[in-house]
Amino acid sequence: MQKATVTAVRSAEMIGEQVCVQGWVRTRRDSKGGFSFIEVNDGTCMGNIQVIADADLANYESEITKLTAGCSVSIDGEVKQSGGKQPTEIHAQSVNVVGWSDPETFPLQKKRHSFEKLREWAHLRPRTNTFGAVARVRNSICLSIHDFFQEDGFLYVHTPIITASDCEGAGEMFRVTTLELEKLPGAKGGIDYSFDFFDRPSYLTVSGQLEAEIYATALGKVYTFGPTFRAENSNTSRHLAEFWMVEPEMAFCDLQDNMDLAERLLKRIVSDALQRCPEDMDFFDQRIDKTVKETIDQVLDGEFVRLSYTEAIAELEKSDKEFEFPISWGTDLQSEHERYLTEDRFAGPVILYDYPRTIKPFYMRVNDDEKTVAAMDVLVPRVGEIIGGSQREERLEVLEGRMADQQLQSEDYWWYLDLRRYGTVPHSGFGLGLERMVQFVTGMSNIRDVIPFPRTPGNAEF
Ligand code: ATP
Ligand code: MN
Repeated sequence: MQKATVTAVRSAEMIGEQVCVQGWVRTRRDSKGGFSFIEVNDGTCMGNIQVIADADLANYESEITKLTAGCSVSIDGEVKQSGGKQPTEIHAQSVNVVGWSDPETFPLQKKRHSFEKLREWAHLRPRTNTFGAVARVRNSICLSIHDFFQEDGFLYVHTPIITASDCEGAGEMFRVTTLELEKLPGAKGGIDYSFDFFDRPSYLTVSGQLEAEIYATALGKVYTFGPTFRAENSNTSRHLAEFWMVEPEMAFCDLQDNMDLAERLLKRIVSDALQRCPEDMDFFDQRIDKTVKETIDQVLDGEFVRLSYTEAIAELEKSDKEFEFPISWGTDLQSEHERYLTEDRFAGPVILYDYPRTIKPFYMRVNDDEKTVAAMDVLVPRVGEIIGGSQREERLEVLEGRMADQQLQSEDYWWYLDLRRYGTVPHSGFGLGLERMVQFVTGMSNIRDVIPFPRTPGNAEF
């Protein structure tokens, strides 16, 4: 028999078809009239298909009436018009139980579990409505990212995951080593890295940007999209130790072009999600956060507010809101400041640009005022910073000066400096955190609930 997804058989076009549907039982209800209703979900969509199993099926008493939540089934039957809310239902010719699920121990019972509890069952939570929907929307976002860049002539490059350079200069990197920690060679004055696998201290990357710049200054427009790692010990609802980042990098591109690209990308992702996942998006808007669609509309309607860092500080200083962290020119914005700007002051996305050079990494281009760099952050309601980017410093001497200021050894970055020696060009790029994007689109308040297996301080189960 022809296999069909639940998504397919829920469509009225399938009425009259003979199909085989395979999935997991959500509920079973027995009717006095001598048949049972089985709600089956296969993860292809939020909704279930209702299966009607008649008492004259051979295994009705022995198996069908014993089905419980979590059992896997393979059902052959005919798609018929339904009298219920859904347009269709299946009248089963056979119900084959593929795998039983002990109702005494299966954790996902009818009652709603907290997201905290479900994190302990990360191996089963994708079988819930919420986590199925998150997985589908996350997939849609990834597809939009690739579509957007590919349609725009960007080349997808794979930057390394293991690296010897610290892009952000923040030192929050995980070490990669084959040395035995108990028996470190040359331990007295320091470690002898010539015994280590890569002959030097090595880390998991915090960003693919530096290597993406190499390809941008040869191939024009590129993007990298992969996992990044930060050993920052921040237990917040927006930080993971392992997260995914998409990083476009463009040659012959200034900060304005960079901001335009970021704005177009965000608009594309959210409009695709609404179009591709309407049922899931209705669920998020109704059940997870009532402001989901409203804030998405703020992204789609009109242009993002663009405000210099200096103007933003002035806005924050004149607001009568009480902030936990005081703010003044020269300090970095905290989440509460970002949220004030996007939620209260401007009620929509805001792009901040031209930050003080002292709080930004060495590679950002120094502006004519010498005090600021051509950086930009995109802030959105509920999430705060979702994108961080900049125009890169393309002038060799200025870049060397900035590296010296930040105590970076130019020998370690010889190849990065070569890009400025040989045919240097103005270029720009940014990093969009995939999980923050999923948080924004779904309204999920904790970042641990938008990645299948979150890695945070003290957590690496599954
Ligand atoms: P924040 O100030 O929020 O910690 P950041 O300024 O350190 O972020 P960038 O280095 O600018 O972040 O990274 C680019 C983007 O990657 C951010 O705008 C954000 O969307 C995402 N991002 C950064 N750190 C994390 C993290 N620990 N977990 C998840 N996403 C992150
Ligand atoms: Mn940033």
